Amino acid sequence: MTDAEFEAQLARIRPLVDRWCDRLHLWDYLHELTIRYDRDGDDMTERGYRDSAGITTVWWEYKRASVIFDLSKVVELSDAMLEYVVVHEFMHIYLQQVIDAFAENRQVTDLQGAHVERTATDLAQALMWATAPST
Ligand SMILES: [Zn+2]
Repeated sequence: MTDAEFEAQLARIRPLVDRWCDRLHLWDYLHELTIRYDRDGDDMTERGYRDSAGITTVWWEYKRASVIFDLSKVVELSDAMLEYVVVHEFMHIYLQQVIDAFAENRQVTDLQGAHVERTATDLAQALMWATAPST
C-alpha cells in the first residue's frame, strides 16, 4: 500500500470513526480508547485475524479499549460496509464484559465466538438502522 493509498483510506475511515465515537459517546464511556490504523495486515495476521478489517481489544474492568483497523482490508470495502465494520468493532467494546462472564479463562469456544460475532453484527445493524435518515 503506497502512502497515497494509505492516506486515501484514512480519509474514508476517520470521519466514520469520529462520527460513531461521538454517537456512542465512547470518549465519555471509556477512560481510554486507542484507535490505530495499520497499513497492512501483518500484525493482525500474526494474531490470527487474517480476514478482519478491524480488531478490538477491551479491558472492560478498566474501561479501556483498543481498536485496530487494517487499511489494506478497508480498501476492499464499500462505503456502507466500511461504516458497518466501524460500528461492529465498537459493539465489541460494549459486549466484552458479558462475554468474559461466560468465557473460560477469557477464551471462547468457536461456537461462543460465532454467537459473539453475530451479536456484534446484529447490534451494529440495529444502530445503523436506528440512526439512518428517514425516507
Ligand atoms: Zn467482530
